[in-house]
Amino acid sequence: MKSRALRVFAPSWSFVLFVSSWFFVPPVLAQSLEPIRYTVSFPALHTHYVEIEASIPTHGRPQIDLMMAVWTPGSYLVREYARHVEALRAADPARVPLRIEKTRKNRWRVATNGAATVWLRYRVYAHEMSVRTNWVDEEFALLNGAPTFVTLVESPSRRAHEVRVQLPRSWSRSFSGMPSGIGEHTYVAPDYDTLVDSPILAGNPAVYEFRVSGKPHYLVDFRERGVWNGPQAAQDLAKIAEATARFWGEIPFERYYFFNVIGAPVNGLEHRNSTVMNIPREATGTRAGYLDWLSLASHEYFHAWNAKRLRPVELGPFDYENEAYTKSLWFVEGVTDYYADLILARTGVATRDEYLGALSAQIRRLQATPGRLEQSAELASYDAWIKYYRPDENSTNTSISYYVKGAVVGFVLDAKLRRMTAGANSLDDVMRLMYARFSGENGFTSEDFRAGVASVAGSVHAQEIRGWLGSVLETTRELDYTEAVEWFGLRMTPPPEAPRPWLGLAARTDNQRTIVSEVRRGSPASAAGVSVGDEITAIDGEALPAGQLTARIGTLTPGTRITVATSREDVVRPVEIMLGTDPGHGWALSVAPVQTPEQRRRLEEWLRR
Ligand SMILES: [Zn+2]
Repeated sequence: MKSRALRVFAPSWSFVLFVSSWFFVPPVLAQSLEPIRYTVSFPALHTHYVEIEASIPTHGRPQIDLMMAVWTPGSYLVREYARHVEALRAADPARVPLRIEKTRKNRWRVATNGAATVWLRYRVYAHEMSVRTNWVDEEFALLNGAPTFVTLVESPSRRAHEVRVQLPRSWSRSFSGMPSGIGEHTYVAPDYDTLVDSPILAGNPAVYEFRVSGKPHYLVDFRERGVWNGPQAAQDLAKIAEATARFWGEIPFERYYFFNVIGAPVNGLEHRNSTVMNIPREATGTRAGYLDWLSLASHEYFHAWNAKRLRPVELGPFDYENEAYTKSLWFVEGVTDYYADLILARTGVATRDEYLGALSAQIRRLQATPGRLEQSAELASYDAWIKYYRPDENSTNTSISYYVKGAVVGFVLDAKLRRMTAGANSLDDVMRLMYARFSGENGFTSEDFRAGVASVAGSVHAQEIRGWLGSVLETTRELDYTEAVEWFGLRMTPPPEAPRPWLGLAARTDNQRTIVSEVRRGSPASAAGVSVGDEITAIDGEALPAGQLTARIGTLTPGTRITVATSREDVVRPVEIMLGTDPGHGWALSVAPVQTPEQRRRLEEWLRR
């Protein structure tokens, strides 16, 4: 990773920047570097392969080193994309084969024999439906840059990468956030980063266009199949995009694509001028499922500012062969999540009560996770590579989601700033200040963020807010919601339903058996000695059919003593458990029945369109 430059907050900043770039920055080399040119094709769609041919300049070197990325920015796990590469061949321009040596799991060395250009051919298996992997079938293709394109090992790469897509006869269109090149279905990325940041999709999708401040936006739906209301979705996206652009004060791209693939678990990945999203088919028909999708779209669109332009110093330029560690994912992801839902409320796409319901769900998730007492927000960010993206049976006991804690911190911080400044400033101002200071070439540090918050809070409160940030970001101390609830005239009350009984375990059905898959720390099940892997065979002497655990426990009340028959390594034993109360119970925000005029005004301001 690039080491970070010294940051200057003095008014002379712009002058310093100007002088240093005038004298010391070498001329841009982009024009002088010959591009790598790829042609991608799909000779046998049903086999799920994409074929890639590339012409790679050698600049007269006797050998060139090639690599494929091992991870995708925005998704913090080493995914070893090179494992899907097959039949890699190299030749000179006359197609005389050249020697290739594998030098690392994701690298190849080609002896050039003096050729000015190396011709490369390989194929990639593309049958993993997710927002960061590749998919090819008879209906469409989704190609992400990191798992598709082998490139030269060179850093930093200012070399253009051109891609020509050869469409099968049955497909009519291709799309990418990259600028178009000469010729149909040709795209030109000015550098490798842009190539990785610009997924390519092809097929016959339904396309809906709308404009925000004159800039075209496209909703591109794959697999609509009559279950998806595209026009309505585009209308709602337009409201979200308008509100988001108004929030930041500018639109930093020429056009934007919402690529929406229906029929996969809900997920999304942000890019500088596009996003790829998934929504399960069964979620398309429900209000809750649709709200989830709108929240996802709002989150990914917000990322075009917060993540892709305003970014932690560690997240760019990327080293695609090694992990990038940052303590700030709680901000990149969590604060983005806070605003994703808030913007739905501010546009009226979600009602006030739906918004408070979504915020309550985040608070509930945090407060019901034992790992909140083990892992701080900053450590959760830093360890994303080994914790968040590698969950196991014990994860809830030892870790938290930086999405969830970050969103909840965003809410509490927002209210705190409003109170400290008597309603004059808010977290919105911190976001815009940070964007103004750090959305250029350089990212921000954790200290930059603290300084930004302190300056929005005002000098009188600077020390207090810094102390508070240290506590909520670096420690596992419980968050206090009192101030936020009071400021906006809300209340945190248990829902009207009686509290649900709670065992504190999760179970899966395996071959018609109920197997414990998770035991929560501090729960009744844990206290009674239940272990992950135990089979539950009966409750109070009555056999438990597979899949019936939740229903059976649901008929009981907290405080009831039950006898659970468990089997571990073929030894059957009874376990006495006293049912507890669902720890998620009681974390429900609603508008207080009696509000002061100030509280009413503050709530309106917070959610104002
Ligand atoms: Zn995100």
